[in-house]
Amino acid sequence: MTIKTIHRWLLLLVVLCFGDALSVVQAEPLKPTIYYQQESENTSLQQLIGSPLQQWQTVPKNEAVSFGYTPEVYWFRVQVGANDADRILYLGYPLLDSIDAYFVQEGEVIRHYNMGDQQPFSARPVHNKNFVVPVPTHAEHEVYIRVRTESSLRFPLEVWEPLEFMEANQYQVAATGLYFGLLLCMAIYNLFNFLVTRDISFLNYSAYTLSIGLLMAGLDGVGFQYLWPNWIWLQDRIVTMIGSIMIMFATLVTMGVLQTKIHSSTIHTWLRRFMMVYGLTFVLSLFLPYAMLIPFVLILAVVCSTFLLGSGIVLWRRGLIYGRIYTLALSALLAAICINALGYLGLFESVFVQRYAIMAASAFEVLLLSWALAIRFNDGRKEQLALKEQMNHQLEDMVSQRTEELEKVMIRLQKANQELEQRSNEDGLTGLYNRRFLNQEFKREFRRCRRNGTNLTLMMLDIDHFKALNDSYGHLLGDQILIDLSNLLKRNLRRASDTLYRYGGEEFTLLLPDTDEVGARDLAVSLAKKVREHAFDTDHGPMHITVSIGVAVASPDVYDQPTQLLATADEALYRAKAAGRDQIRVIAERERSVSSS
Ligand code: GH3
Ligand code: MG
Ligand code: MG
Repeated sequence: MTIKTIHRWLLLLVVLCFGDALSVVQAEPLKPTIYYQQESENTSLQQLIGSPLQQWQTVPKNEAVSFGYTPEVYWFRVQVGANDADRILYLGYPLLDSIDAYFVQEGEVIRHYNMGDQQPFSARPVHNKNFVVPVPTHAEHEVYIRVRTESSLRFPLEVWEPLEFMEANQYQVAATGLYFGLLLCMAIYNLFNFLVTRDISFLNYSAYTLSIGLLMAGLDGVGFQYLWPNWIWLQDRIVTMIGSIMIMFATLVTMGVLQTKIHSSTIHTWLRRFMMVYGLTFVLSLFLPYAMLIPFVLILAVVCSTFLLGSGIVLWRRGLIYGRIYTLALSALLAAICINALGYLGLFESVFVQRYAIMAASAFEVLLLSWALAIRFNDGRKEQLALKEQMNHQLEDMVSQRTEELEKVMIRLQKANQELEQRSNEDGLTGLYNRRFLNQEFKREFRRCRRNGTNLTLMMLDIDHFKALNDSYGHLLGDQILIDLSNLLKRNLRRASDTLYRYGGEEFTLLLPDTDEVGARDLAVSLAKKVREHAFDTDHGPMHITVSIGVAVASPDVYDQPTQLLATADEALYRAKAAGRDQIRVIAERERSVSSS
């Protein structure tokens, strides 16, 4: 079940309960005609008892007795007819400071009750959040009631038969209980929300709900009845004190729900100002008398509430979804507050409608705001997730981009390495493999031939009298001949596996795997012939050279080390030179003897 559904159900429940309360409290009480007069300096009870009714003013039937905020003391006079059943006088307004009820029979005071919220709750004759007094039975009598209060003065007096009163009261108690239960639940629920999410808005909201609850408990009388029955000081200033705190938290909650810090700095600044002013009124409420401060607090409340509503509307129009919910929630509460304010000022009559309107509206507001807060929190979380995802994507993009770059660099590096390796294996002048590479390859080839049991043949080729050529025509010409010769030799290799190396200077080496003595000799003869017949193209015109060739042919297992084969080839070459140059000498391992071409 989503939060939304829970809220809907709770809302329905509240409406049903209040609806019930509204429909059932119809067991009609007796509403006696109320006579009243303002107390003057020389008013005394004795003087009032039996005074002609014409001296008193009356309240028209079905009109509430309400004087608003007044410093005056009022006397009320009610006539109660004879009745066999027990009855009670019920004054359904809990905020009266001092009430003296005198029951007078035939000019004599037969009973006197002194009540009011200036006395501890336990001093009341009947423990009820409002004022209840038992009426003496049987005889007809009059009741004179003196009322003094710093709060708005109202006198909704009713006469009830106890059973009917009990019945009607049950529903009120249930509805009130449900209302306060709801507020408490929301306060605790949002406190938990805060503890889990650490979002301060939930804590503010919880405190706001709690302060509404306390304020309403104060106004309703249940606060004094259950929470602070002996704390007259608090009961005296509950409206100014808790009212100030409540509005402070209301502005904080507004900041949280509407996120004014982000959406409007002007609204945010003003909300902070209101908070400061209410902080001040809270401090003042601890010292100043209630009557002095209450007009200021009420006027400020109207200004502040209007501003809060205005803020909701402004941000709603700017497209903020929470703005809409907030405005709806606050409008209901404001309407109820207006009804109530009119009531307290004596301009609106039904105490019942006032009380339940504000209860229903504040319950409605509390639920809606909680909903708005939940949506806002959820949206915030979604935004955060989206941001995180976006950041992840960006990170991934960056990583893949870097990886790609790295791969490119790696490939370039690999190529450079390959090139470097190739260069290190290459002879700069002729582009043939060099001696370094020969040593490496030769060892490998040597091992391979031994493994396979095949011949390995090494041919060494040296230009005859090259020094003289160099000396006569210069090194440049010598270089041209070296390049031309290496190309010529390469062109005339027969097998792919035959590899030509420049061994150094004007010496070349040919590695001939799987080549026997006959094959090697054929190749040597053919190469020597090609060289002899080739006209080398030089700057000094075509030139002719000859080469001497020494060949070492070895079948496996004859030599232990490749260097031995090399030495043999060298020896063969030496012999070819010694034989007069332009010669080929082959040393084959099987006989380890010299044969000549
Ligand atoms: P032989 O018939 O005994 O081989 O006589 P030779 O002059 O060819 O042999 P020697 O070893 O006495 O001289 C080799 C000469 O090769 C020495 C040097 O001037 C020349 N030489 C070696 N490397 C290079 C090179 O890279 N370029 C050029 N132009 N000449 C080189
Ligand atoms: Mg030479
Ligand atoms: Mg040489």
